[in-house]
Amino acid sequence: MRIAFAASECVPFAKTGGLADVVGALPRELVRLGHQVAVYLPLYTRVRKHLTGEPVYAIQSLTIPFRYYNRFAAIVDGGQHDGVQFYFVECPELFDRPELYGPRGGDYPDNAERFAVFCRAVLEASKQLGVPDVFHVHDWQAALIPIYLKTTYALDPALGGAATVLTIHNAGYQGAFPPATTEELLFPWDLFTMDKVEQFDRFNFLKGGIVFSDKLTTVSRKYAQEIQTAEFGEQLDGVLHNRAADLHGILNGVDYAHWNPASDGYLAAHYRSEELEGKQACRRDLLHAFGLEGVADATPVIGIVSRFATQKGFDLVAQIAAELMQRDVVVTALGTGEPIYESFFRDWAQRNPGKVAVQIRYDEALAHKIEAGADIFLMPSKYEPCGLNQIYSLKYGTVPVVRATGGLDDTIEEWNPGEGTGTGFKFEGYAADALLAALDRALTVFKDRFDWRRLMRNGMARDYSWAGPASEYAAVYRAATRGRRAS
Ligand code: ADP
Repeated sequence: MRIAFAASECVPFAKTGGLADVVGALPRELVRLGHQVAVYLPLYTRVRKHLTGEPVYAIQSLTIPFRYYNRFAAIVDGGQHDGVQFYFVECPELFDRPELYGPRGGDYPDNAERFAVFCRAVLEASKQLGVPDVFHVHDWQAALIPIYLKTTYALDPALGGAATVLTIHNAGYQGAFPPATTEELLFPWDLFTMDKVEQFDRFNFLKGGIVFSDKLTTVSRKYAQEIQTAEFGEQLDGVLHNRAADLHGILNGVDYAHWNPASDGYLAAHYRSEELEGKQACRRDLLHAFGLEGVADATPVIGIVSRFATQKGFDLVAQIAAELMQRDVVVTALGTGEPIYESFFRDWAQRNPGKVAVQIRYDEALAHKIEAGADIFLMPSKYEPCGLNQIYSLKYGTVPVVRATGGLDDTIEEWNPGEGTGTGFKFEGYAADALLAALDRALTVFKDRFDWRRLMRNGMARDYSWAGPASEYAAVYRAATRGRRAS
């Protein structure tokens, strides 16, 4: 099958979260299965750095009309990587900016137009470069593609045969814009109704994508159920519930070429399940990187790598912060994001020198060092569509303590001391005492070296490679091409 991915992030070119990891890995696995895959990505400033030499243009100029003017996008040929063809949508006035979406986790004021240009450019480009059997679009930034196909492009003979699959990586980000967006993007006003793109008097890109795509997926089975409820649906639970028959939960895989303690180039030492010695060296290296010297071997190291966003549950961590300091632990945290959490971590570290250390930045190498060097990985998310860090942690023998939500619930199994089974510690309700109790269970088991090693090895034996999920996606693509929705 021919598949075109349209996404706003992809490793190694541009990343703010797990979406980039998925778009970096899944196409390669699909190619291995015999499919033909092209990936379209906006040509942000940071993507430009990956181009060697002058850009090679696959298409010089595409005209994207707006009400009183045209935008012009070019398509840069990004070449083939592991059999995957990359195309970058170039429109310097919209994409040559320091951030992907906006400063400090916020939004650029013209994001509706930026991603409309991206989506139309993908459709226009594919008419010249090859119309796929399926457009696999990701999150709100690419969700206009299924809307365009069923409206503006409904009568286009070239695009008529293409099916659409929308993957929701996080229902909390929807791309909601003022009603006038309808006209600005040259859509007819009859699109702006409750059963189509309108949501509380906003033009909601994600909602439109949900309504108009042939099939929908999200990134874990549990999250696929959760988003159909008022608690997790972010007001889209109704429209998602209407499409329940077409909504599939497919757990993200992990790219073990990048995340494997036996070969990880960022680590001070390598280790594997049968040979754990190297993990001690990684622990020392991590503590050194955080300026925490002289920590006893018996003291467990808790690691955190995260966007600092409300979704990630750090208000619970703040509530237990003082009490946790009564325990024999050290905390190493890496993240950036909302100022309220950045200052919480800074204050926590300042008050507890030698016990808590934080680095406020995005740092790929340090993220790997934490995965390898920590004993416990903490992820108390309020909601978590899939979550990758807890899956990396399993492979690195770093025991996850997580809230039982979304992909965290699907991937972590509670330790059972009697049976010696399980891979981590989970708590259900979103409450500080439940989090502390889960951490205390982990700290108790940590004291028993034999049980702890067993727990580590249980996790290290789990396999979340992409082969399984890629086959599941291929099945969804086939179903999408068979069951295309009427306009
Ligand atoms: P989300 O997509 O909600 O941010 P995921 O767990 O799915 O959460 O993916 C997060 C990805 O981003 C992981 O690969 C993680 O290592 C990475 N990451 C998050 N924050 C940082 C940071 N400050 N430095 C380095 N990597 C980070």
